[in-house]
Amino acid sequence: MNEVKSPRKPLIYYYSMVLLILVLFNFLAMPWFAQRQILEVDYGAFMDMTARHEIGQVEIQDNRILFTDRTGTQIYKTGRMVDPGLVYRLKDSGAVFSSEIIEQMSPALSFLLSWVLPIAVFVGLGQFLSKKMMEKAGGGNSLMFGMGKSNAKVYVKSSEGIRFSDVAGEDEAKENLTEIVDYLHSPEKYREIGASMPKGILLAGPPGTGKTMLAKAVAGEANVPFFSMSGSEFVEMFVGMGASKVRDLFRQAKEKAPCIVFIDEIDAIGKKRDGQIGGSDEREQTLNQLLTEMDGFEGNTGVIILAATNRPESLDPALTRPGRFDRRVPVELPDLKGREEILRVHAKKIKAAENVDFHQIARMASGASGAELANIINEAALRAVRAGRKFAVQSDLEESIEVVIAGYQKKNAILTDKEKWTVSYHEIGHALVAAKQTQSAPVRKITIIPRTSGALGYTMQVEEDNHYLMTKEEIENKIATYTGGRAAEEIVFGAISTGASNDIEQATKLARAMITRYGMSRDFDMVALETVTNRYLGGDTSLACSSETQAEVDRQVVDLVKKQHEKAAGILVENREKLDELARYLYERETMTGDEFMAILNG
Ligand code: ADP
Repeated sequence: MNEVKSPRKPLIYYYSMVLLILVLFNFLAMPWFAQRQILEVDYGAFMDMTARHEIGQVEIQDNRILFTDRTGTQIYKTGRMVDPGLVYRLKDSGAVFSSEIIEQMSPALSFLLSWVLPIAVFVGLGQFLSKKMMEKAGGGNSLMFGMGKSNAKVYVKSSEGIRFSDVAGEDEAKENLTEIVDYLHSPEKYREIGASMPKGILLAGPPGTGKTMLAKAVAGEANVPFFSMSGSEFVEMFVGMGASKVRDLFRQAKEKAPCIVFIDEIDAIGKKRDGQIGGSDEREQTLNQLLTEMDGFEGNTGVIILAATNRPESLDPALTRPGRFDRRVPVELPDLKGREEILRVHAKKIKAAENVDFHQIARMASGASGAELANIINEAALRAVRAGRKFAVQSDLEESIEVVIAGYQKKNAILTDKEKWTVSYHEIGHALVAAKQTQSAPVRKITIIPRTSGALGYTMQVEEDNHYLMTKEEIENKIATYTGGRAAEEIVFGAISTGASNDIEQATKLARAMITRYGMSRDFDMVALETVTNRYLGGDTSLACSSETQAEVDRQVVDLVKKQHEKAAGILVENREKLDELARYLYERETMTGDEFMAILNG
């Protein structure tokens, strides 16, 4: 889409530019003007020139000597040395060493540069700014000097905008939004029957899933102008600015109707008004203004407001009630098929080998958002360039997934031999426990090459297909797999290391969720003890039970993890020979594939 950026830039921008230029000028240009005629030479050259009678004038200063040639056109300087005979030699050479050498530029030039020029620049800038202000002030009923005008970026109509076909996966969201596009195309159809469109549509989902893209695609499909603004922009300015920005945004939008107004991060202004003392008045005023504006126009003006958020649960109910953002379109993380489609869309932008298996890559990238997948493709292209290839191959893509998951390989991290053995056993511990249980995702790759994320090694398991539900047994097996690394260290070395901290965190999280959220403990039955406070951002939870219950939950979490830890240890003891064999293999090769792992495991 031809994006026509607003030509208005904040005043501070122009001032900073001028300041920067002046500072640079002072630092770079002035010394150059002042000293460009002085040539530095070593003391030997000075002595030679003296001996050859080539020196005109000399000025001896505290720590240096300035002198000219016979004609006086070139000034030289050199460091001052202890040289008692210098004065006599200079006298012999016929040099004049009493007169002063003018090392500065001419006073007229100096005056011009240090006074006239900066003043001229400032006057010029003042003229320019006041002209701009006049233009703005004449352009509408805005506040003084155009402050309070929304900086909404206006996108003009264009046939090459983002279309629904650019947004891969997200079929439900697209279906939902198609109706809006249809309405923008032929509003009469809806008006005749008396139907009115929802004024506001809330796109809710985790970051990087394509919410902004979808909003742009609606504008692109309907071929209407697109105004976008971020919620945080409303509240970052001076007090009272947010509300006037909202007013201005809507005024502009109504002039350009039919059009799309997109408000990103709406939670920045639309958070629940919690009645706390000292809460943000500014935000509240902005929110009120937004609500007023939304109530103020009829459903059929042709202005459709799309808003995006990744914390819908924190929105003020006033925003989501009928007549405002009453339609919610979930934009979830892509499933297997969606991931494959997104990979293919982005792979079109790079050169990739014919035989790249995108299905496989999509399976490996489970849980990745659209933005992360786009990143994976780009990383792969970069990797291909680094390797001197003309196009990206399968291994580039696989390695770039690992980069996105675990960070870059840390080539110069040196593990001691003992550490390398520990990490080998630790990772094989995970893999072996996973493989010996039913219902575990197959092992795809094990490596003990340290990563920049701090991981010393990892075991990658890849689900065969999409999973929407997990049984109690599957979760327990997962916990056992997490504990497998530590269990192997205990069995083999009789000592434990800090390498299991991430495993511990993950296992605890799962065990806790089983009890507090999934109703998988006998004692608490189907009672919710915790609620998720932000589903799309890491899934933080808040407790909803008494402190006695909390203590009991803690006890049960410990029991649960302990039980799985013991189970894992049992599996490893039973398969001690395989454990040793696999760990030795990993120790020697540092990386093994799932197939190699299974081959050794099955003898
Ligand atoms: P959000 O607004 O949900 O945080 P964006 O729409 O800004 O996410 O997406 C960021 C980038 O990620 C996009 O520019 C695009 O390259 C990529 N992306 C995300 N989702 C998709 C998708 N469904 N299809 C194609 N690309 C996507």
